[in-house]
Amino acid sequence: MKKSNKTNESNKLSYQKDGLPYCQRFDDNYSDSESALLQSDFVFIHKNSIKQRLPDAKKIFTIAETGFGTGLNFLLTLQAYQIAQQGSPTLLAPLHFISTEKHPLSKDQLVQALSILPQLNPFTVELVKDYPKCPVEEFEQEFETTFLNGQVRLTLTFDDAAKNFTSMKCSKLGLVDAWFLNGFSVEKNSDMWVDELFAQIGRLSKEQATLTTLSTSDVVKKHLLDVGFRLEKYLVEGKNKKMLAAVMQSNPITTKGYQLRPRINKPQHVSIIGGGIASACTALALTKQGVQVTLYCKDAELAQGGSSNAIGALYPLLHQQKDDISEFYQHAFWRAKALYTEIAGQGFSFAHQWCGLLEVSYKESLINRQQAFEKLNTWPKELIHGVNAALASKLSNIDTPYGGLFMPNAGWISPQELVQQVFQAAGATNNLKIITDTHISKIRQVKNAACKLDGAKSSWCMSTNQGELNASVLVICAGADAIEIEQLNDLPLTATRGQVTSMRSNSKINKLSTVICHKGYLTPESNGIHCIGATFQKNDKNINTNKADDDYNLTMLDKCLPELAAEINWQEKDISSSKARLRCMSQDHLPLVGAVPNISEHIQAYPHLGKDKNWKYDQAAPCIDNLYVLLGLGARGLCSAPLAADILTAELCNTPYPIDNQMLFNLSPNRFIIRDIIKRKI
Ligand SMILES: Cc1cc2nc3c(=O)[nH]c(=O)nc-3n(C[C@H](O)[C@H](O)[C@H](O)COP(=O)(O)OP(=O)(O)OC[C@H]3O[C@@H](n4cnc5c(N)ncnc54)[C@H](O)[C@@H]3O)c2cc1C
Repeated sequence: MKKSNKTNESNKLSYQKDGLPYCQRFDDNYSDSESALLQSDFVFIHKNSIKQRLPDAKKIFTIAETGFGTGLNFLLTLQAYQIAQQGSPTLLAPLHFISTEKHPLSKDQLVQALSILPQLNPFTVELVKDYPKCPVEEFEQEFETTFLNGQVRLTLTFDDAAKNFTSMKCSKLGLVDAWFLNGFSVEKNSDMWVDELFAQIGRLSKEQATLTTLSTSDVVKKHLLDVGFRLEKYLVEGKNKKMLAAVMQSNPITTKGYQLRPRINKPQHVSIIGGGIASACTALALTKQGVQVTLYCKDAELAQGGSSNAIGALYPLLHQQKDDISEFYQHAFWRAKALYTEIAGQGFSFAHQWCGLLEVSYKESLINRQQAFEKLNTWPKELIHGVNAALASKLSNIDTPYGGLFMPNAGWISPQELVQQVFQAAGATNNLKIITDTHISKIRQVKNAACKLDGAKSSWCMSTNQGELNASVLVICAGADAIEIEQLNDLPLTATRGQVTSMRSNSKINKLSTVICHKGYLTPESNGIHCIGATFQKNDKNINTNKADDDYNLTMLDKCLPELAAEINWQEKDISSSKARLRCMSQDHLPLVGAVPNISEHIQAYPHLGKDKNWKYDQAAPCIDNLYVLLGLGARGLCSAPLAADILTAELCNTPYPIDNQMLFNLSPNRFIIRDIIKRKI
């Protein structure tokens, strides 16, 4: 134990009838009672996902706390560690719990305070065993001990939190995985909640570090946002009704400047240009956050663009190994499935079937691909696994001579019905207004007098067939049509035409029970039809259907799966209808989600990246104020839209992103300009 040179100032405690200790200094209770225990467990253990994260930790997992108090959070952490260890086949990584307490309790006070929580007794006994009898009177500065066979180490410093954290060393990657911001409230304990404390929290946090606190004052929120946390407010049971859960995702110290996204105050109102799946999911996510949304759609009805097909497949784009694309799409797939299942469960019904999807290995390169998937075993079986021809036939309910890769959780959806129902769900929040028949032909930035004051904010004036309309924050989800909007001209997006053909079912195919993918796809019967397709014509914006493309779709089925095609024997007369629409494609097959970059300012801001791609720039990405996009959903919009919409909503509302920083940059609309500067293309 280190010795302290500070003056002795003991805590005066009194005890309520239920044994709850009351601190006279701060005119408040310590959080020790059955209900306080439940609240602490929820706020600090559950909301930092401690039990889930401990088994995943590769190295020491570090928790730092302000305000050790009676040690309740530490004891709950010990309990969580023990539970996680019991559920793990291997030894967990060690845990280091760092806590500070400027006004420590004496050993007797601690024993008495914890005596009303017998459920923590075995841990309490261990804690009090070596705890100093009277920390401050004995001039103890630090108390360090270990628990659970040395797997958990406690370092408790009896000093000011900011001062203690200032003295701690850490690498560039940070030190702390989770913060428990405990201690009496800002009003009652203003000495603790100083600027320096937050600066140190920022310095010591690892990327994706989490933080929870029952202190929800504006001062705490502002400081946390300033050092790079993103916040979400939750309601909790118990004395303090609200809490904050935060994630370190925009740390100005460690994040590359160009990866820092612009921060705006959560808007009250957002305007969206769209009508397809991208805008539907964005409207739903934003309205759920309490944001008022107005959607402008050029068509008389919703879902008339790329999202208007009768049937579309919901499945992720996966490669044999975990790469940026597969990581995004597998995450997006689970999110999409969860959202669509949730809204269907709420009664917003749309035609769909989670019937699985079979990618048929009909040629040698695909057989090799299937073998590589099986050998590398990169993905969990519930996402994708290899099947032989017999199993493929059984799963799909048709005879096939080919094996393949089966995605048991995938399926098909009617995109048009889905989009309409997602908008219905958003409308149920009473925060959505839909305005159809409104074609936005141009947008113009307006800097009004109020905006000039802070120089950063501006609004948008939209020229439409209904006259001029205004938007404070504008999100463009206009699919391939967005390419025409002047401010987006430099984003590398292309329109790719696709035609799908709807075929009448017959007795040879009506039993098909999974989606089949070959070079194209074939869907199970719905309303008497199957969809086959689709064509891919780059830079062709004509959405009139043509016979040549129907022929192509039939020929493609015939070439890839000749036995099946011969069995079904579809003729031209079996074509029920066709539809051609445009896909909005990005260069790297990932969507563009976020603020629209100011390209010329990027070139000026980051000139040295061409010489050294790791050149340290602090300046955040220069972007066009209040203009955002969710575009480039390509051929997988049903899969990517929900997660992309969550990310955009997090961006606008300052809440935690559902993905890490690297994936965020992989989706950022400014990634192309940064790559071009690095490759000296400009
Ligand atoms: C043939 C084909 C087959 C496909 N199959 C699948 C599949 O099986 N699975 C899958 O996941 N994806 C599939 N896709 C891709 C998927 O359809 C798209 O990724 C998705 O629909 C894109 O949605 P979106 O909301 O971005 O665009 P869209 O659905 O095109 O919506 C854009 C909306 O913006 C409106 N709009 C555009 N410009 C303006 C303006 N200036 N003013 C006002 N309103 C405007 C339009 O009216 C439209 O409603 C397919 C696409 C095609 C073409």
